[in-house]
Amino acid sequence: MIVDAHCHAVEWHEPSTAPVSFERYLARAAQAGIARSVVFAGFSADYRRENRRTAQLVAHHAPRLIGFACVHALRDAGRVHELLAEAIGELGLRGIKVHRKDAPLSAEICAEARRFGVPILYDPTGVIGPTLDLVADHPEVAFVLPHLGSFDDDFRAQLELIAALPLLPNLHTDSSAVRVFDLLLEALAHAGPTKLLFGSDGPWLHPAVELAKIRALGLPEHAAALVLGGNLRRLLARQPTPRTRAASLAPSAARDR
Ligand SMILES: [Zn+2]
Repeated sequence: MIVDAHCHAVEWHEPSTAPVSFERYLARAAQAGIARSVVFAGFSADYRRENRRTAQLVAHHAPRLIGFACVHALRDAGRVHELLAEAIGELGLRGIKVHRKDAPLSAEICAEARRFGVPILYDPTGVIGPTLDLVADHPEVAFVLPHLGSFDDDFRAQLELIAALPLLPNLHTDSSAVRVFDLLLEALAHAGPTKLLFGSDGPWLHPAVELAKIRALGLPEHAAALVLGGNLRRLLARQPTPRTRAASLAPSAARDR
């Protein structure tokens, strides 16, 4: 079963987004054979309201969507537990989404992720070092830093993240919006397939196009199954990420380099 680990449930008429349609994403994902998608709100002034909307969307499309709760590290500071008690404890969302454009990830959010036993999907917008400190300080929490750490193709940041992947067992990344294909090969060769999750960054990016990148990696079947859903399922089940020998698990990708 193919799982997209990264999709924004936004529509084009929302303020300050490019024209996009979540409904169109759903149709494209279905056509591409994507059976499940992790979804979360776009930027908002009120994440409590948005998380309720995400939960409604998940219920409406059950069992197709997996909802993550958005948290603003500054505006929601001091009430993260309260926010997540509703979003995760009552509404059944299964992870936390934080974006550095709101505010840098906080120790408060990491502590609550540990408490609720859920992963954190955090876009660090290329600021890797301070993020790695939080990842190291919270070894029980699974972190996913999307786009190899930079949506904007900041190669230095992406290489910094790739170098850290094998060093921190609870650190992962996703493939969404990564344009330089060889960096995905580099990540796999360096850290193995347990550290990479397939994500689309829909509805802005086309899920079939993003999925084609994973197919093009030429991974052995069991490694592809991890990237395409197995890793996310393991994170949601609160199981630790096994340390793997990169080259032995991704022979065709390594050969291709
Ligand atoms: Zn995104």
